Amino acid sequence: MPVLTFMAQSLDIAHKGSSVPVATPARKNLLGLDREELGAVLAEAGVAPREIKMRVGQIWNGIYTRGLQDFSGMTALSKDLRAAFGTQFSLSRPEIVTEQKSVDGTRKWLLRLASDKPGIPGPEVEAVYIPEEGRGTLCISSQVGCTLTCTFCHTGTQKLVRNLTAGEIVGQLMVARDALGEWPNSGRNSDDRMVTNIVMMGMGEPLYNFDNVRAALDIISDGEGLSLSKRRITLSTSGVVPEIVRAGEEIGSMLAISLHAVNDETRNKLVPLNKKYPIAELLEACRNYPGLSNARRITFEYVMLKGVNDSIEDAKSLVRLLKGIPAKINLIPFNPWPGSPYECSDWPTIEKFADVVNRAGYASPVRTPRGRDIMAACGQLKSETVKARASERFKQPETSQAH
Ligand code: SAH
Ligand code: SF4
Repeated sequence: MPVLTFMAQSLDIAHKGSSVPVATPARKNLLGLDREELGAVLAEAGVAPREIKMRVGQIWNGIYTRGLQDFSGMTALSKDLRAAFGTQFSLSRPEIVTEQKSVDGTRKWLLRLASDKPGIPGPEVEAVYIPEEGRGTLCISSQVGCTLTCTFCHTGTQKLVRNLTAGEIVGQLMVARDALGEWPNSGRNSDDRMVTNIVMMGMGEPLYNFDNVRAALDIISDGEGLSLSKRRITLSTSGVVPEIVRAGEEIGSMLAISLHAVNDETRNKLVPLNKKYPIAELLEACRNYPGLSNARRITFEYVMLKGVNDSIEDAKSLVRLLKGIPAKINLIPFNPWPGSPYECSDWPTIEKFADVVNRAGYASPVRTPRGRDIMAACGQLKSETVKARASERFKQPETSQAH
């Protein structure tokens, strides 16, 4: 564990001794349904066709504008309807198991999803809130674990358990707003938002859970609810080429590409998916990303690994490679995790690398690591669902390099 871990406050706020609270199977969870699906559910529950649109609007407002967790506060509905809906439907979000606060204000939540089998605790994911001057970014997960096995990533050591549902993806934002006290009824000024941006940079590969990610981001950006513009939502992918253009067309968020290397040989080792979709194909898909312009650039993420991808030659190749693509470059100091087979590049090396990138016209390219003391930084997220598979793959934690 990192030396600084003891500085973090860890609050165990799970219900003591209780079994895992799961939405009663008899009650359907409405979180994550789009308006049409919500209408269909209400119709099935016996709401008259002429009332459906109005009821959908009232419930939508209750869930996504006011952040209500049950029907009792939905005073636009009659008392009888509130009671009837309350027995048939739930509005459950993921449950906070633990919350950690970093010395730098970053907050990380371990969240338990609904159980898939009665009596068995639901799987867990992490979400991270990073406050900054004038903005706040929430990093959310799309899968429990990941099918991909990027060798520098903690999540990559954990097998895919399952995809998150649309409701569980939206639910991460709802839980963060609960914990931050950000709903309108909390007395905060609604212009004074705490979560202003979302990055899909938590656990999992979002483009391998395409439909649920699209549905969730449509709800998150809905102007009559959570209202976070797609321009403020960034989807990060390790390079699932066939889904990239489709993501632009159907999701329309900002795009980040986990590039991390400038030649196929190195990228094959770091991001094994590169063997299937090599760099040239990946960049071609980027060039074709709908809506690409200087005002709407693709972010290329590049993790700085000592002696692996951090030479001046690499920096020059990076700049050459991205020529002609409206791009931002984000150099990420490698965040080590227990048993990780790499080291972060030295600071002077990162600075020299950044200089080359800077001189090519890319602004402030180094991302400051946040929440390091609570292992909240990029690529360190790993649920407790499947523990310590890292050590299976990397038997010698002391090894500093994979190659
Ligand atoms: N699966 C997606 C999104 C989740 S990972 C993807 O790979 O893009 C989010 C970002 O964190 C990616 O750029 C990923 O490469 C990076 N990352 C993973 N492990 C890291 C680590 N240990 N240190 C720094 N960045 C890491
Ligand atoms: Fe999966 Fe992204 Fe980690 Fe690769 S970097 S293992 S794609 S979460």
